[in-house]
Amino acid sequence: MSGPPDPTHVCVFCGSSDDVAPVYLETARAMGEAIARRGLTLVYGGGGTGMMGRLADGALEGGGRVLGILTEQFDTAALRHARLSEKRVVPTMHQRKATMAELSHAFLALPGGFGTLEELFEVLCWAQLGLHQRPIGLLNTGGYYDPLLSAIQRARDEGFIYQEHRDLFFTEGSPEALLDRIGRYRPPPGLERWLRLDTV
Ligand code: AMP
Repeated sequence: MSGPPDPTHVCVFCGSSDDVAPVYLETARAMGEAIARRGLTLVYGGGGTGMMGRLADGALEGGGRVLGILTEQFDTAALRHARLSEKRVVPTMHQRKATMAELSHAFLALPGGFGTLEELFEVLCWAQLGLHQRPIGLLNTGGYYDPLLSAIQRARDEGFIYQEHRDLFFTEGSPEALLDRIGRYRPPPGLERWLRLDTV
């Protein structure tokens, strides 16, 4: 990951499905509104459907700036959000995630499916490898992520995940609490020991 990220840019991953309960769509909108209220720029996948679309609606209606990073596959009238403040079209999915990551000083995952989970775990793995030291937060709307958190705890208990790596992400129940945590975030102590194996 190159260059320092812009401290005003927050990257959000969330579901693209329209077929979800209204509480998730409302949460996404509230997240967008909270980002706009704090004068932050939303960086996301640029989609207009599901939570992604409502997230961008909330940010735009709150007077915020929304930057959509898309591949050509997503850059269609049916999939793209119609009112992005700025759009960047990149050639590959890998480049798309790299661009979102390079631009953003924090990563937030709202409820979502495979795409969201993959994006969340990729930024977590990058943090684990010391490629960035940026905050990563999970919005656990209605306990949606409880089963995932249990699975991660199991992996921790059985030694597959070290505590300092588990501590690379935090969980909150509301958009405002999540944004507050970004400001207070410090990388967990002890990470260096996994990154400097040649010196031990
Ligand atoms: P999913 O959780 O499987 O719905 O995937 C959502 C995540 O994958 C988002 O954070 C996006 O970055 C990406 N994604 C999935 N579908 C779209 C779409 N139609 N337009 C843009 N990005 C998408």
